[in-house]
Amino acid sequence: MSSVSFASLGLNSQLQQTLQALGYSKPTSIQAQAIEPALAGDDLIAEAQTGTGKTAAFALPLLHRFNAVPTAEKVRPVRALVLAPTRELAIQIKESFFEYGAAQGVRTVAVFGGVRMDTQMHQMRRGTDVLVATPGRLLDLIAQGEISLQQVETLVLDEADRMLDLGFINDIKQLVKKIPARRQTWLFSATFGPAVEKLARELTTEARWFKAHKRNSAAQSVQQITYAVDNRDKAQALRYMISNGGWKQVMVFARTKKRADMVTEHLQDAGISAAAIHGDKKQRERMQALEQFKSGGIRILVATDVAARGLDIEALPRVVNYDVPQQAEAYVHRIGRTGRAGSSGQAITFVSPDERSFLAEIETLIKRVLKLKPLPALKDDQGQSVLFEDAMPGKRARAAKQSRGVQKTPPGTKPKQKKAVAQDNSEPEPPRKPGIRPSLLSTRSPKKGRKG
Ligand code: AMP
Repeated sequence: MSSVSFASLGLNSQLQQTLQALGYSKPTSIQAQAIEPALAGDDLIAEAQTGTGKTAAFALPLLHRFNAVPTAEKVRPVRALVLAPTRELAIQIKESFFEYGAAQGVRTVAVFGGVRMDTQMHQMRRGTDVLVATPGRLLDLIAQGEISLQQVETLVLDEADRMLDLGFINDIKQLVKKIPARRQTWLFSATFGPAVEKLARELTTEARWFKAHKRNSAAQSVQQITYAVDNRDKAQALRYMISNGGWKQVMVFARTKKRADMVTEHLQDAGISAAAIHGDKKQRERMQALEQFKSGGIRILVATDVAARGLDIEALPRVVNYDVPQQAEAYVHRIGRTGRAGSSGQAITFVSPDERSFLAEIETLIKRVLKLKPLPALKDDQGQSVLFEDAMPGKRARAAKQSRGVQKTPPGTKPKQKKAVAQDNSEPEPPRKPGIRPSLLSTRSPKKGRKG
């Protein structure tokens, strides 16, 4: 595989030059496997880890083909339809087509919900070679007579397992009926389960099935850490880690829209720049938050699973699962926002006692044990835990203070220094505050064993 180059895969010289200019020295594993059969006309089912170049694996052969055989019609018919589960991902895929295809003379348009339809209608009047779409908006535009799929040669489902699950399958079935049966179908995803295998087979014809990596695995470059954290302590723990760990940019995943807003407000109140992205936000706000985060304008992006799949945020060092995802596949996708394109990343998951059964499901999916560690707590000079004091409401704080009262150092006495605990380099950077030193010892130890 090491001798494979973009030239040996048969891509045109202009594409090769663009890729070189982008710093792509050689094809990734999934590109090396998928591009040739894609150009040869095969159906594909491709499994590859997050951040390993799946977009280029389907965009490059399409750009090459449409460059070689440009459409003769004045209004370009849709020749390739790329379906994606979220608006942000649809936009990102369109941008990748622009990036790779700048010199190819191929037109790409994206249509997705949450924004005015008339602008998209206007764009479609000139036609497009490649249409990237979320299914709901596409069906609406077809119903309005604005788009025809009768000349589609290639159907691509990005995040294919998501597109074939209950939330989307009816839309996909409707759309497939509008596309010629004689077509190429390519399915790409980082996760794949037995439930969608049958559907994937039905949708494709004698598909070549590629597994660039072990199924449902996260990239090796993502270091996975799981901490036992009581629910009531999560906000405080996150804030503390961000402020004192020197964390520059973090994507934080919460279970619900309400919790995402709550976490965002908590961080903003602490003077940490943060924005939320979830289904209740206006599309304009969602795009603004993502752009600000990508450009480094804000430090923290708090999201629900609407942003778990596909988004490529360059050099994002860290993801925090504030809540354990209840769908195991979402874990693989969430942590895949970091450690992309071979760079290293860290994924930290807070696990409250009632979330341990979800953690067990994740371990089953990824075939890996995620050892639950006690949260790194902070101790002040007197060896007292300070991490959660101000998060404790009335009674708890008083009780905690009382229980510490017996150990109080008399005024004027130099506090006894405790032996430093060996620092594990795999932990987030230890917080640095005068008079406070880090410890890996938690005041609370997690319950042994696992529920469920
Ligand atoms: P994707 O999985 O398509 O989202 O791509 C993940 C990241 O890998 C993106 O930032 C791409 O720009 C980058 N990438 C894709 N293909 C290559 C390649 N052959 N060499 C280097 N980087 C790549």
